[in-house]
Amino acid sequence: MPSLLLSEGLYQAKGATTPLSLKAIYNASGVKGKRVTPLLANEQEGGISHFIQSIIRNTPDIDSPFLVLDLGVIMHLMEKWTTNLPTVQSYYAVKCNPNPSLLGVLAALGSSFDCASRAEIESVLSLGVSPDRIIYANPCKSESHIKYAATVGVNVTTFDSKEEIHKIKKWHPKCELLIRIKPPQDSGARNALGLKYGALPEEVKPLLQAAKDAELKVVGVSFHIGSGGADSRTYHGAIAAAKSVFDMASNELGMPRMKIVDIGGGFTCGNQFDAASFHVNEALEDNFGKEEGVVVIGEPGRYFAESPFTLASKVIGKRVRGEVREYWIDDGIYGSLNCIMYDFATVTCTPLACSSKPEDPECKNAKMYPSTVFGPTCDSLDTVLTDYLLPELELDDWVVFPNMGAYTTSSGTNFNGFNTTAISTYLAYSTPIAMEKSMF
Ligand SMILES: *Cc1c(COP(=O)(O)O)cnc(C)c1O
Repeated sequence: MPSLLLSEGLYQAKGATTPLSLKAIYNASGVKGKRVTPLLANEQEGGISHFIQSIIRNTPDIDSPFLVLDLGVIMHLMEKWTTNLPTVQSYYAVKCNPNPSLLGVLAALGSSFDCASRAEIESVLSLGVSPDRIIYANPCKSESHIKYAATVGVNVTTFDSKEEIHKIKKWHPKCELLIRIKPPQDSGARNALGLKYGALPEEVKPLLQAAKDAELKVVGVSFHIGSGGADSRTYHGAIAAAKSVFDMASNELGMPRMKIVDIGGGFTCGNQFDAASFHVNEALEDNFGKEEGVVVIGEPGRYFAESPFTLASKVIGKRVRGEVREYWIDDGIYGSLNCIMYDFATVTCTPLACSSKPEDPECKNAKMYPSTVFGPTCDSLDTVLTDYLLPELELDDWVVFPNMGAYTTSSGTNFNGFNTTAISTYLAYSTPIAMEKSMF
């Protein structure tokens, strides 16, 4: 392993025994004082679907749709992160899902935060997180937001243009900078962030020179290989490129040695995370293994936010056209299911009645129909699924969508009066055994 620095917060989280972490989670901002329902060991005995059924049973005037957030999954993901990437401090990317309970638990488990706007910084500071655990990782910021960062002491940001240097010089000259570079290879990600951000190789030297002339401190390099389905071998080229920028800055421009490598996001939980960690660790060792005092940070969004959330939505309309069944549900493309459009997500829809007992003959042998699932707004674009096999559903039946936390509620709208931000979230805590079975 390279001799990199471990942040204290994360080190504590890694060293903590489960009961300690549990206590931290229950006392976390956004959790404390709220009801957290423990879930039993597996789905047959009482997992998420049983919990959803009990919420519906016990809440006569329930708001639909609603979400369940499993805090046990977040803890498991953090343990996995610190095991696989012990030298990489996590800065959770708030834009992926700013749910206050998710933010609070991540803060309690030692994560720091990547914020992209004044409001995101405010929400993280309101958790009681100190400003030195925030990176303002938006390469293009409005002047008023830069001024705000200066007043609250958020003192690290990214840039990839000369214009940004001038704004930072004017409003926040003490701010430390990371130069955001465009990774050399395309990772094939669903959202290729390189289309918008990152200095090209030939732009790096003039940008560093401009920052130097402005007497600003460039302390490191950041990149993002792209979000969703990125090929994690791309981390090799990107980390090697970061190392070249370190060398260029000190050897060719006489700048003080850089110290921060920000490997961005692009991680997905499950097996892909093992592959990604392998490539990241190998590339860090190859490029920075011999270098003292380097701090490596990552900005995972999807990795932490996707799997802990399950969405429950109600069937509010139905039409039969020959063999085809058409359903309307009360969440859609303008709500949390906007991930289908903007995040190119593939979602899974299961009738709640069968999600807890898939082996039940009534569910197993149910006749399946090619079905269309519409969202609630009056736009025909608001179509969630087409030609999707579902058993016959009736009005007031419920359907569940697992893994619905990444780029879902954060990017939904209030179109047609369906208010995405108003969707309520119920908290649960499942044991690792249940998670091993259902998630990993
Ligand atoms: C969106 C974003 C992230 C998070 O990306 P994921 O693929 O969700 O991990 C991290 N850093 C920056 C700068 C981003 O814009």
